[in-house]
Amino acid sequence: MYSFVDAYRDGKTAEQVIKYIKQEAGDRRIRIVHVCGTHEDAIMKNGIRSMLPKNVEVLMGPGCPVCTVPPNKIDYMIKLAEEGAIVTTFGDMIRVPAGLGSLADAKARGLDIRIVYSIHDAVKMAEKTGKEVVHFAVGFETTAPTTASEIIAKPPENFSIYSAHLLIPPAMEALLEMGVTQVDGFIDPGHVSTIIGEVGYRMVQAKYPVPQVIAGFEPLDILFSIALIIKQIKEGRAEIENTYQRAVKPEGTPRALQLLDEVFVKEDASWRGIGTIPKSGLQLRSEYQQYDASKKHDILVEDNYSMPAGCKCGEVLRAMIYPWDCPLFNKGCNPDNPVGPCMVSHEGSCYIAARYGVEEI
Ligand code: SF4
Ligand code: SF4
Repeated sequence: MYSFVDAYRDGKTAEQVIKYIKQEAGDRRIRIVHVCGTHEDAIMKNGIRSMLPKNVEVLMGPGCPVCTVPPNKIDYMIKLAEEGAIVTTFGDMIRVPAGLGSLADAKARGLDIRIVYSIHDAVKMAEKTGKEVVHFAVGFETTAPTTASEIIAKPPENFSIYSAHLLIPPAMEALLEMGVTQVDGFIDPGHVSTIIGEVGYRMVQAKYPVPQVIAGFEPLDILFSIALIIKQIKEGRAEIENTYQRAVKPEGTPRALQLLDEVFVKEDASWRGIGTIPKSGLQLRSEYQQYDASKKHDILVEDNYSMPAGCKCGEVLRAMIYPWDCPLFNKGCNPDNPVGPCMVSHEGSCYIAARYGVEEI
């Protein structure tokens, strides 16, 4: 039976779009950057890079909410657990290396670190145990509204969060500002866009006008977005277009944005492999500081982590190289024995590349 999504997987249409891309790109080198683990997964799963002409490149930037969490935040959680708190975190976060090892190492040492599927599970845990429970609140604009709604619902006093929530548009802006990699256009992330809408990218657009196209996760969504970016480049335009209108409204999700604004304030934040990006992180407003672990617990962490020798995660996260350009890729570093954070998370580009096998590009 022909389903709704089949329309976005149609081979004949894909052939036409690829033909268009080849024709319009000519032999100009075009580098398109996306910032989303699910886009990378779809690109690898469908072999999209191998369909494109060699001069059209698509690289993943800082689109993994786990890989980009700075090591000192993980160390902070380990120290909290050492002080006797129950630390809750999402599964992907537990193996990411930091200065004091990973949360998994700390758990193996006997510290009370538990994996939860949602922040709500952590709140329930706090209600049941009566012990201090600190949730490691990680994720982009997609996850942060859920954190906000739990905080607004007034969890018990023994519950708090340590926020490592990060925002995508400031990271896109930073990538353009750093100028370390050629960015001719952005494929904007589907889920994040459902929250922030087309309007969420306007600040980036105003400062650094490059074509941006919001895309869904089917092969044709991605191919269309590449075609539209190339069309904009050819026509000398730099606009925000939306090929994912079935999910993304121009204004995003106002209720979620309102929640974020009510609970969080934007602060400068450190991104692993990138550095500090102005107003790119979310911290709890002072009205909610009783739920802010960083205010409740006086813990000092040192910045004593450096990327493992040979690991190119910093370059991968800045869209300077592909994972397979790293000399350790699939040699010293693989999903069973990850060296850097990009090989740990399911949304990390090294992990995704290793899982699907490297394409001929
Ligand atoms: S949260 Fe969704 S949109 Fe954001 S990076 Fe992950 S998969 Fe992509
Ligand atoms: S392949 Fe491994 S070592 Fe290389 S950049 Fe990726 S995570 Fe780091």
